Amino acid sequence: MNIHEYQGKAVLKEIGAPVSKGVAIFNASEAKAAAEELGGPLWVVKSQIHAGGRGKGKFVGAPADAKGGVRLAWSVDEVVENAKAMLGEYLVTEQTSDEGKQVNRLYIEDGSDIDRELYLSIIINRETSRVSFIVSTEGGMDIEAVAHDTPEKVINFDIDPATGFMPHHGRKLAKALELKGDLAKQANKLGRTLYNGFLAKDMAMLEINPLIVTEDQRLHCLDAKISFDENALYRHPDVQELRDITEEDSKETEAKKYDLSYVALDGNIGCMVNGAGLAMSTMDIIKLYGAEPANFLDVGGGATKENIVAAFKILTSDDKVEGILINIFGGIMKCDVIAQGTVDAVKEVGLEVPLVVRLEGTNVEAGKKIINESGLNVIAADDLDDAAQKIVKAVQG
Ligand code: GDP
Ligand code: MG
Repeated sequence: MNIHEYQGKAVLKEIGAPVSKGVAIFNASEAKAAAEELGGPLWVVKSQIHAGGRGKGKFVGAPADAKGGVRLAWSVDEVVENAKAMLGEYLVTEQTSDEGKQVNRLYIEDGSDIDRELYLSIIINRETSRVSFIVSTEGGMDIEAVAHDTPEKVINFDIDPATGFMPHHGRKLAKALELKGDLAKQANKLGRTLYNGFLAKDMAMLEINPLIVTEDQRLHCLDAKISFDENALYRHPDVQELRDITEEDSKETEAKKYDLSYVALDGNIGCMVNGAGLAMSTMDIIKLYGAEPANFLDVGGGATKENIVAAFKILTSDDKVEGILINIFGGIMKCDVIAQGTVDAVKEVGLEVPLVVRLEGTNVEAGKKIINESGLNVIAADDLDDAAQKIVKAVQG
């Protein structure tokens, strides 16, 4: 789960990392009071969307020389002007689609005077199964280019979970960021603070770009991008409250309500399957026959008719879906429940694309009977291989 920068900074503050003062606003009418509260003399007006590269982003329809999604302001009036210009507009960055993302929240922040811009992130390194720091002296808005063109400037080290963040990690961090004297001490402290916070909050990723050295030689977190491990969210009700569903795929949000494991993908064959393993192999076999799945969808073992109807609605609401494959092996799940759910859903939302159904297992005869007697235009399949070939053929013509 991703959160906004201003929320990330509140989390950083809570764990004891240095961030600027700021006020989040949802309406331009709040800009003046926010700016006056912070006092100046420098403010930063920052678009809050779940995508990076805002500074270099462009607003849809703005003139070519217009500023991006992060703007400096030197007066209260300038803060207000920028807030009016940004709120409600669509911001396109390297990490959004071409349509961009609508800016519905701004973060008005106390501006910092920057001496150097550094890069620091913490991730879970799947190769070493450890929490790993990634740091570079070349922070700011071009870290992707730095990693691509000069990978030697990006330094990586793991933390042993048995020891946690040790003084030698602090020295490594300071050396990699070319920080000496008191700044090296600050790096050690910040490294430990962030590592401990990362674990305590069950983060999946924490990126601070830029981490700055201020003109008065303090290490300070100027940007914050945090994502949390979804499977650990139940331990953090405070973090759950930070969810902004307007930033998430609406189909995935709907699926969560019905306890469906759903991930939107780019293909054109919608899949409804029970069991993660079967869902994976269904996606594989669709690819084997030359097409692409539109989603991963595991309705689970104990799905009710209501869950099936919800799942079917999610599939048909996706404009990309040109055909649907229902592949059920009824172990705990009963084939007649799936069949009835499908028939009900089709009656409710209609069916404009080919539908292939493969049922096997518990109550399979009852399930087939429900479908056969429903009058629906369903292509029946005998096994997984047959089902995949039939749906690919139906979609590709
Ligand atoms: P991003 O473009 O989405 O990564 O947004 P950032 O929060 O990283 O801001 C982009 C850039 O704006 C930073 O790399 C800084 O150069 C600049 N910036 C952000 N905050 C401040 C600030 O307080 N003072 C100054 N002088 N520049 C800032
Ligand atoms: Mg940044």
